[in-house]
Amino acid sequence: MPTAADLDAAIRDVPDFPKPGILFKDITPVLGDPDLFRGSLELLAETAGDIKIDKVVGIDARGFIFAAGVAHILGAGFVPVRKKGKLPWTTHQMAYSLEYGEDVVEIHADAIQPGEKVLLVDDLLATGGTAAAAIKLLKALDADIVAVSFLIELASLKGREVLGHPQINALLTY
Ligand code: AMP
Repeated sequence: MPTAADLDAAIRDVPDFPKPGILFKDITPVLGDPDLFRGSLELLAETAGDIKIDKVVGIDARGFIFAAGVAHILGAGFVPVRKKGKLPWTTHQMAYSLEYGEDVVEIHADAIQPGEKVLLVDDLLATGGTAAAAIKLLKALDADIVAVSFLIELASLKGREVLGHPQINALLTY
């Protein structure tokens, strides 16, 4: 199983991407390394503890990569939370604030049954706006959100406080 130091060594810091002042955490070297990729999926899957998860929910787009693998390990279904206009069926929508303006995420209205146990997964927790919008969508579907798990947390941005969920996990904290 990889350690946090192994993952840290692989993650590439890209200054000023996608715009000036952002230090982008590039996780593609983790995806490209078979041991780090499989290990990160297994570590994220462990954040469910002993609870039988019905659905792993991934956030568009890097969250899909991790959530799908975690769902496979846990024997759970996979559910995408997507940017507006991508899902073909009836959706619930939630707007959230970006640095400038706002964006909208959606989930299929029938993706989760009331009371189903859900693990929410994304690659990175920054300000928490995206994951908070996903949590609101899941609550609108009466999902039982067991935990919210990230590969990376940028702790100085205090996204954890925005989410306000009792079980927030990150494999790596900066
Ligand atoms: P936020 O809503 O601010 O928590 O932003 C989270 C989303 O934006 C995640 O899905 C990340 O993929 C992406 N993101 C935000 N900041 C960064 C960063 N510094 N490096 C890589 N991805 C980021």
